[in-house]
Amino acid sequence: MDPQSSSSAASKRFATRAIHVGAEPDPRTGAVIPPLVLASTFVQQVAGEWGEYDYTRSGNPTRHNVELTLASLENGTHALAFSSGMAATHAATMLLENGDHIVAGTDIYGGTYRLLHKITNRAGVTVTLAPTTDLSALRAAMTPRTRLVWLETPGNPLLTISDIAACAEIAHQHGALLAVDNTFATPVLTQPLTLGADIVMHSATKYLGGHSDLLGGALIVKSSSLRDRLYFIQNATGAVLSPFESYLLARGLKTLDLRVRHQCQTALELARRLQVDPRVQHVIYPGLPDHPHAALAQRQLTGGAGAIVTLEVHGGVSRAKRMVETTRLFRLAVSLGAVESLIEQPALMSHASYAAADRARYGITDGLVRLSVGLEHVDDLWEDLDQAIGH
Ligand SMILES: *Cc1c(COP(=O)(O)O)cnc(C)c1O
Repeated sequence: MDPQSSSSAASKRFATRAIHVGAEPDPRTGAVIPPLVLASTFVQQVAGEWGEYDYTRSGNPTRHNVELTLASLENGTHALAFSSGMAATHAATMLLENGDHIVAGTDIYGGTYRLLHKITNRAGVTVTLAPTTDLSALRAAMTPRTRLVWLETPGNPLLTISDIAACAEIAHQHGALLAVDNTFATPVLTQPLTLGADIVMHSATKYLGGHSDLLGGALIVKSSSLRDRLYFIQNATGAVLSPFESYLLARGLKTLDLRVRHQCQTALELARRLQVDPRVQHVIYPGLPDHPHAALAQRQLTGGAGAIVTLEVHGGVSRAKRMVETTRLFRLAVSLGAVESLIEQPALMSHASYAAADRARYGITDGLVRLSVGLEHVDDLWEDLDQAIGH
């Protein structure tokens, strides 16, 4: 079904589309929320003639609805919902064949680094890491066999900003696709397809779901042929989002706009307070004027600079460890993007799967602390950080 024609809401503004696209009332009962269809299989009228749905791995009405919403929010034509962010990323890498080459950013999710170096390589696909913030380094990493450029912006955990439009141009000049992991920015702040990217990937586990109660992923594209290739891979390998998770994701998406904007405001305020605190050595936040890519951040992240703040406290690793173990509202946990605030130490947690030498090379120091700012009151969050940093 073409998302543009599926609903009169398709031409409305973002916050309205998040609520209405993919959420047509049930025509039979008038239920305002479409029913959750848990069925794994669907009755056929005639043997060998397929209806709209036949088997939930191949298609499911509840999953289809949330795919319509996702496609609309990312300004794509099609979305595919996966059982996790890694399943979505894995499906994208399966577009490549033996002998092909991927260039990926240096500031990427630890699990993506692991997938590229320990799984994708088994299929004879080689990987080069290059800082996608540095366009000449990206150009230098491209080879005649490069088929995919993979970047994350803001990067993880150093919150670097890559210029999506410029990277798309380089990828396309070399006949490669550009895929953007848009988990940190969300389509509230950045819409990579509009800037020239070919594939947007999400860990829907994070902001899209937003409540730390579902695991999911998505790929969104703007080309039918690319959609068909990815759909074939998804159906053949099976990592689909379950109907119940699809329902939870649809519910989470309705408040995405409100949540992300408010979380950005709180993150900016906390980053400002941390920056002037003498106990803090260094704060990284793309909305602060001293961020190395502040001008690009302002242009590419519209409506807020994200809700992740990275910092280093004076006193090194032991002080950082004490801090992450002493906060009470900020829960010590990996993941991010939910209504509850989380804190973690990337070198020991989210980025433990990087080789230690690569962590050192890319500036992921052992004393780094990453905050995911939720929806609690800013003053309660500040008081929590204040007591945890200690004296
Ligand atoms: C969490 C995360 C992933 C992986 O997603 P899962 O849902 O955990 O499989 C990929 N990229 C980023 C930026 C993430 O934060």
